[in-house]
Amino acid sequence: MSTGIFFHYQQGERLRDFPQALNGILEKDNVFFYDALYLSKPRSSFDLEPIPLETIQKIHSPGMIDRVKATGNFEGVLYSAAGTMAAAAKVCSRELTNAFVFTGYGDHHAGSNFFGGGCYLNGAAIAIHELQEKFGAKRFAIIDTDAHHGNGTWELFENDPDVLYICFCSGSSREKNQNVNIHIPPKIRNSDYLALAKDAFQKWVKPFQPEIIFWNWGYDGTIGEYGDIGLSPDFHIQMTEEIKGLAQGICEGRLIVILCGGNKRNLARSLIPQMIKILADQ
Ligand SMILES: [Zn+2]
Ligand SMILES: [Zn+2]
Repeated sequence: MSTGIFFHYQQGERLRDFPQALNGILEKDNVFFYDALYLSKPRSSFDLEPIPLETIQKIHSPGMIDRVKATGNFEGVLYSAAGTMAAAAKVCSRELTNAFVFTGYGDHHAGSNFFGGGCYLNGAAIAIHELQEKFGAKRFAIIDTDAHHGNGTWELFENDPDVLYICFCSGSSREKNQNVNIHIPPKIRNSDYLALAKDAFQKWVKPFQPEIIFWNWGYDGTIGEYGDIGLSPDFHIQMTEEIKGLAQGICEGRLIVILCGGNKRNLARSLIPQMIKILADQ
């Protein structure tokens, strides 16, 4: 059992306490830290390279990539997607069992030719394409517990029988091929959400038998956050246990957690180290 942490130094408030907040975790023998090489920062033992343009073009249109470049966030965007791709490659090749990816820019609002809501590229989609092409892996599941609907991920996989996408959000429950939306009502209790998730995992993920699970994890549905649906911070810890157990049951624990929405620094500071500890627990 080994856990990778993929990190790049980001501007902004929410991850200001990292990587220092990982002290005590990074020292574990089965935890490996991969960070981006920035000239202004001390080097760690592993470097994370930005993602090549040709890899991105397999998922996103040239016009969209130009529009992303024009936002001024392109460097961070490349490192975010690179972290997800590197994590996926190491989990697929069994170098790591699971991984936590600190993205600066999320995934799920980025489609083939559109982006928004703080998402610029769809790192999970890019990684899945690479694993299918270069590693011969075939079947994947993406679980999305960010508070908002993953319109980009939905679009990219709605006609793909090899990728199961389960989105929990306020939108109505519906299914299309291997895309499933599960309605989460406002002010839901942790236990009710967890019960819905367990049912969905039994009904959809287990029979699908993915080789790797991606988890688009956002904490923006936590009380006081911008997508508040009434969840207390504990919810995320319980969900981590649940999804780790699910991965252990069906795909030898292979799981990639991608940080998505949420902006409170104190929540990131308290939740992320606890979650990585669970991932790394033997
Ligand atoms: Zn969100
Ligand atoms: Zn949704």
